[in-house]
Amino acid sequence: MAGKRQGPGVPTATNRVHFACFGCRKTFKQAGSSNWDSNVPERPFPCPECKQPMARMGRHFKAPRQRAVRAWQEVERLYLQGERFD
Ligand SMILES: [Zn+2]
Repeated sequence: MAGKRQGPGVPTATNRVHFACFGCRKTFKQAGSSNWDSNVPERPFPCPECKQPMARMGRHFKAPRQRAVRAWQEVERLYLQGERFD
């Protein structure tokens, strides 16, 4: 995959990684993860609800509302095309 992009601003320890479950149309933040600290290894994060592996999203990802099925389909489409919302 492409290298990590350094965003502007000062990273903080609370910069946890967003994961999205397209099946449940929910997002969760992974405890103990980091978008910026390469010493923190990336780990898979199964959905707490349906136990499917979730998609790792960038810090600029904004989740649609749960009822916004169309918007979620669009997000999933972008994700499958390689968009990571970094
Ligand atoms: Zn789920």
